[in-house]
Order: sequence, then structure tokens, then C-alpha cells
Amino acid sequence: MLVDIDLRITFLTPFTVGTGAMGETQTNKPTIKDALQRPIIPGSALKGRLRHTCERLARSLLNDDDAVCHAPNPATTCPLETQGQDQYCLVCRLFGSPRRPSSLRFTDLHWLEPVTAAPTLIRSGVSINRRRRVAEPQRLYDLEVVDPLDVVYRGHITGHLNEDEGQALIALLLGGLHSLTTLGGGRGSGLGRCAIQSQARIDRRLVDEAWRRDGLLRLQNGGVNLWRS
Ligand SMILES: [Zn+2]
Repeated sequence: MLVDIDLRITFLTPFTVGTGAMGETQTNKPTIKDALQRPIIPGSALKGRLRHTCERLARSLLNDDDAVCHAPNPATTCPLETQGQDQYCLVCRLFGSPRRPSSLRFTDLHWLEPVTAAPTLIRSGVSINRRRRVAEPQRLYDLEVVDPLDVVYRGHITGHLNEDEGQALIALLLGGLHSLTTLGGGRGSGLGRCAIQSQARIDRRLVDEAWRRDGLLRLQNGGVNLWRS
């Protein structure tokens, strides 16, 4: 089945998605931008967080800590061998693993409206030594954050899933999206709080709440193999 999920993300607090490198801005922690200098959220950043919420949801729905593999430790990450066959868990069948490509493609998230000036601010921060709970004087930094006023981000998740398990896997994915309330860095200091709206189409037809609930029930009632090759 063909999957297309339309995402609209509204930020409630400023957010930042670090590049991990020095940019051309007056800060040592710039946020990622497109060619027009507009801040974006890379698809990989959403994918990583969403994978995590889907893992938690699957474990809680199935009431089993081992319902999905335990990434990123290679010894406990798919493929896991059972009876001489490489098996992949639900989450790896959606998001992929080092030896299996993802069934889904995550586009980068962009501003919906054309905005010319990037509404970013520089925030000064201080690294806190978590063990001693004191500020470390040598570790001051400037963090570039995006001011979220009136900014709506839009992106897509697209892909192709097997007919026999697609409904349950997409229901899990939509459930994970529903419980995702922050994106980007600095979540501990209140950055990146967001509201995500999603509209899913399967084979170009809009799915409703009953379809999603039915998919989760199938998953819970053993209607889908938890592991398969
Ligand atoms: Zn796995």
C-alpha cells in the first residue's frame, strides 16, 4: 500500500536543530537552514524522534519490553537471528536498520509561508556540569533559536508497505506522531515544544480515526507478526 502523510507542525516555544558545525552566523551553535537561509527541520531529525516514540508506544501497547529491538547496541538491534533466519521488528520494518533500508521517506520540514527574514535569535547558554550541578565557566555558548511566532512547518512522510501489515504499522506511526510533543535540541530547557497535525492517505484515500484504531487493535490482538524476515 502507498502511504502519504501530510504534516503541519506549529511550534509553541523557540526551537533549534543543531548542525554540529560552525555556520556563518554569530553563534557557535547555529540552527540548520536551507539555501535561502530559512531554518528547516531535517527529515532525519523528525525520523529519529518519531522512531523513539514508536518504540515506546509498541512496548506499551504490547506490554512487552522486548516487543521491538533495543537500538543502537548492535547485539540487540535487528536483524536478530531466530531459527537460522534474520528477523526484523515492527519498528525496523518501518524505520529501517543498519542492514535494511527504511520503508518510509521523510522530507525536510519547511516553512509553509514564504518568509524573507529568518526569525532567529541568539540565546546565551552555559553548560551545566550535571554531576556537580554547577555552571562551568569555560563553557559559555551562544545558541541560535528560531522564534516560532506564526511559523508553520510542513513536510511529508511517504512510502510503500506490505498489504497484510501496512494498516497496523501506519497506525503505530500515527500513534507515535500523536505522542510527539517536542522537536530539536534543548528540550530540557523548554525549547522545541510543538503541536503536530497529520493527515494520512493510503492509496490516495484519506484515512480516519476508526481505521487507525482498527490498526492498533490488530497489532494488540496478535494480527501482525511482531518479527519477520
Ligand atoms: Zn528492530
